[in-house]
Amino acid sequence: MTYQELWQTVLAQIQLNISPANFATWFANTKISSQEEGTIFVSVPNSFAKEWLEQKYNKEILRILRTLDNSIKEISYRIDFPAAKTKEAPKQPDSQELPAEQLGFAELEVDKETNLNPKYNFQNFIVGPFNELAFAAAEAIVKEPGKVYNPLFIYGGVGLGKTHLLQAVGNELSKRNPPCKVKYIPSDKLISTIVNSIRNRSIDELKVTLRKVDILIVDDVQFFAGKEKTQEEFFHTFNDLYQRGKQIILSSDRPPKAIPAITERLKSRFEGGMVADVSLPDYETRLAILKQKAVEKNADVPIKVLEYISANIQKNVREIESALNRLLVFQKINNKTPTFEEAKKLLRSVIVSPSKFTNPTRIIQMVSEFYDLEDKTLFCSSRKKEFVKPRQLAMYLLRKELSFSFPAIGRKFGGKDHTTVMHACQLIDREMQENEKFSQEVDLILQKIYSLEA
Ligand code: ADP
Ligand code: MG
Repeated sequence: MTYQELWQTVLAQIQLNISPANFATWFANTKISSQEEGTIFVSVPNSFAKEWLEQKYNKEILRILRTLDNSIKEISYRIDFPAAKTKEAPKQPDSQELPAEQLGFAELEVDKETNLNPKYNFQNFIVGPFNELAFAAAEAIVKEPGKVYNPLFIYGGVGLGKTHLLQAVGNELSKRNPPCKVKYIPSDKLISTIVNSIRNRSIDELKVTLRKVDILIVDDVQFFAGKEKTQEEFFHTFNDLYQRGKQIILSSDRPPKAIPAITERLKSRFEGGMVADVSLPDYETRLAILKQKAVEKNADVPIKVLEYISANIQKNVREIESALNRLLVFQKINNKTPTFEEAKKLLRSVIVSPSKFTNPTRIIQMVSEFYDLEDKTLFCSSRKKEFVKPRQLAMYLLRKELSFSFPAIGRKFGGKDHTTVMHACQLIDREMQENEKFSQEVDLILQKIYSLEA
């Protein structure tokens, strides 16, 4: 058996037992480089992989290797930097108090024409069960823009990778030969551009510009809510591009049906292609993402600290990243890696975050906002389906998030009996187990409830 075959056999077995995200993260670019007596030398691409394999997988790898060759006694992991990949050493900061952005990983240049930032690509986008549908749809679009899913509508809470994915598609397509003409526009920017060009009477020029693209990407279209003029203009541009087989990609913090105050015809356009969600990554994926970011930013953080962050910051990826940036600032200023204790101290304010703190008013407000209802309709006694479900959900959340007693919830909802409340909670519980989409909706609402934004 060659080294390669030996290692392939090990990988094949490991792969059966761990998640794809983990596998890709820790085992990519590993190989057996040599063998001396009873020791197998495995080369790994970086210190993370080394530490990780030593601490988490060594026993299992050794067990598998020994079933193939029982003369093997131990494994030694060595870092083997691929020559092409070594980056320049990060610049030494000349001031003590550098903002995180300047720590040797300054923002890459945004292209003026496309508005795309090359830092977002597919290679550094980690895929897991929480985003695989959106990812698969994005990949399909890259293969055949304008053909498979048009539009692609990606929704999910703040900081869960929507912009990253949208931009990755754009970057991939604009690299094409011949290149696709891509335009990425955050919706607030589109709104102000439309408003200005109406004012300046240059709307026709804008139309021409927008309709010249092959791929139009509009981020955060929930901001179209209530913007009638924008919706109208966008509707026509959408139709024009769509009819000519041009790809449209949209994102929002909620599904099309939950965006308030947009016209039905636009809503139905949004829903007409593929609607895919991104939700919260699980612990393993959070860790994989964190590790990926640490490598990108040249941060040398002990695995134990990465695990600590992943276990304790569950809200979204952006927060995870900002925790990492804090450690980086420490690393740059003190010229050393923070210890576990130091890291805990540094992260105290993020981890004991006020985000795990809510109140009944906020729960009610977020539930009604999400379903586009007025707060008080949640308290009315109508049995209309569109009121009943949100009302039951609000009860459920008061119970789950704030440990309200059943009778207290009953009182809050116009003197309902506690058994009615219990029944509502059970129904929601069951629905969440049986209906994946609904449980994702609840996740989204929870994110809103705990988000620090108003
Ligand atoms: P959103 O647009 O959903 O609010 P972003 O795309 O801005 O979120 O993501 C926030 C940060 O988290 C970005 O730096 C992004 O690169 C990172 N991120 C989110 N999801 C992933 C992922 N699956 N893999 C790698 N990085 C991710
Ligand atoms: Mg975004």
